[in-house]
Amino acid sequence: MLPGNDVSEAQDCAVIIIGGGPCGLTLAIELGRRDVPVILLEEKTSPARFPAANATQARTMEHYRRLGFAEKVRAEGLPPDYPTDIAYFTRYSKHELARFSLPSARAAREIVRTLTGSWSAAELPHRVSQMFVEGVLRAEAAVCPTVSIRAGWRMAAVRDTGGGVEVDAEHDGGRTTLRAAYAMGADGGPSPTRKALGYGYVGESGAIRDFMGGRMFAIHFRSTKLYGVIPHSRAWMYWAVNRDRRAFMATVNGRDEFNFHTQLTPDQPAEQITDAQAKAMFREALAAPLDVEIIARSSWTAGYTLVAEKFQRGRIFLGGDAVHLFTPAGGLGYNTAVEDAVNLGWKLNAVLKGWGGAALLDTYEVERQAIAKRNTAYARGFADSLGLFVPPPELEDEGPAGEAARKLTGDHFNHHARFEFNIPGITFGGRYDDSPIVVSDGTAPPPDAPNSYQPTATPGGRAPHLWLGDGRSLYDTLGFEFTLLALGARPADTAPFRAAAAALNMPLAIVPVPGDEARDLYGADLALIRPDQIVAWRGNSAAGAIRVLRRAAGLTD
Ligand SMILES: Cc1cc2nc3c(=O)[nH]c(=O)nc-3n(C[C@H](O)[C@H](O)[C@H](O)COP(=O)(O)OP(=O)(O)OC[C@H]3O[C@@H](n4cnc5c(N)ncnc54)[C@H](O)[C@@H]3O)c2cc1C
Repeated sequence: MLPGNDVSEAQDCAVIIIGGGPCGLTLAIELGRRDVPVILLEEKTSPARFPAANATQARTMEHYRRLGFAEKVRAEGLPPDYPTDIAYFTRYSKHELARFSLPSARAAREIVRTLTGSWSAAELPHRVSQMFVEGVLRAEAAVCPTVSIRAGWRMAAVRDTGGGVEVDAEHDGGRTTLRAAYAMGADGGPSPTRKALGYGYVGESGAIRDFMGGRMFAIHFRSTKLYGVIPHSRAWMYWAVNRDRRAFMATVNGRDEFNFHTQLTPDQPAEQITDAQAKAMFREALAAPLDVEIIARSSWTAGYTLVAEKFQRGRIFLGGDAVHLFTPAGGLGYNTAVEDAVNLGWKLNAVLKGWGGAALLDTYEVERQAIAKRNTAYARGFADSLGLFVPPPELEDEGPAGEAARKLTGDHFNHHARFEFNIPGITFGGRYDDSPIVVSDGTAPPPDAPNSYQPTATPGGRAPHLWLGDGRSLYDTLGFEFTLLALGARPADTAPFRAAAAALNMPLAIVPVPGDEARDLYGADLALIRPDQIVAWRGNSAAGAIRVLRRAAGLTD
């Protein structure tokens, strides 16, 4: 048995996590940081070596900052001064059509302190391959004393026994039954856990587009000569727009590794594509005779807008790709998966530690399913804007007709790039207004919009961010569980909250934030912030403290 006081004699741990991708690893970290005994099963024996996701959104980086390893993630991937531009070409060595310039990792760290409004944040996005992020997440989970990562262990069956869960795991030629209080299926799109619970996806699975709608083929390759062949400024994301080989290519390490994706025709099975054919596809997008070294290959389907009908049954939860599948336009799949884990992590801990009510766990589905529907719909809009655009026939012609076609295409993609890659509204604006653990104050939040975000302390959304006079982020002052912000020069009495938290055995940090700026930003003297940095309540009087805390902790009257 693992250490910790949350586990009965009959259980091997408190929570079994099935799947060691971003969702499962983040949940392991959230629970491990709280000394909750966890066993994580991952059927693969060695980490994925395919880059997969390319973008860690700002909100995910803020969570990594809360957990203390944002800097480790920001140090991964591209060199610190490498530009993270998104650029569109007819073919990579031919005409540049459009470009959206974004800051390097070093610049992002500096300019975030100067930004207000939509980008008022503790962290900006980071452009980095998922395989590097997963390396950091795995290391962070592994150092938690109560987390046991079992690589090469495959979940074969999962059962809710009423008083707990049982998971049969196959490993080393044998089979072990593990017992715990709760289980989380973070086992990706095919999710055997979701299937065991009998839940399907709802939504669209077969969108057909000129690009980003159909079967995709990808190679992760090495070339020391590619930069010498592309006669344009360096970019992070290279798109090829033409009538016979549309593609995108992410820069993996800023030196010699790249990840190239193109769409297959319906009669082209990915497994039958030879390496020579794969290289020829890349050369079509490049339009130059360059040989590359293939490191790995992969195929995936674009055109999904799918959300599972349920995220929970009894003591078994589902998160990440197991409950939502995106077309990766906008870069939201892995980021939504991380936020699922953040949401469930503090709630499971609260219930296991006894200060959270059983109803708290039911709010996971209420809160996260709505976000999954919202985010998959945004991604679909990006995929439509990108993939329904059909390049004009004259696009690659020399002369005035070709120039006009390139101008039209460039205008479209200059607009599109800012639509898809400048998304503070999506990343910061997700809200839990319908959640029973959010105490509404009757105010309406600003409208949801992908490309702009208006900080608001209307309960149910991300706590507005502020850089404090001493240079710290407001977020760095928050407690790890609930925090009561006492705002302004003459904040309200906080003693009732202190007493109520003590009575409920509920961890509560009380943080004074003097000054008019914070008081104005929050529009109240007091604000209760959840462990996931969501505003649970705001008001000017602590008179109802016990009622507010009970509600936020899912304790029913
Ligand atoms: C080309 C491409 C680009 C993308 N770009 C982005 C992007 O820029 N931004 C973004 O946010 N998202 C992006 N995504 C999506 C992102 O990769 C996924 O959303 C993310 O990996 C989901 O994480 P997860 O932990 O839910 O699932 P996964 O990463 O799929 O992890 C599931 C894990 O469960 C394990 N598992 C499965 N069954 C079992 C079992 N029976 N027992 C034990 N273990 C099991 C698997 O081995 C796997 O390791 C992209 C995807 C693709 C294909």
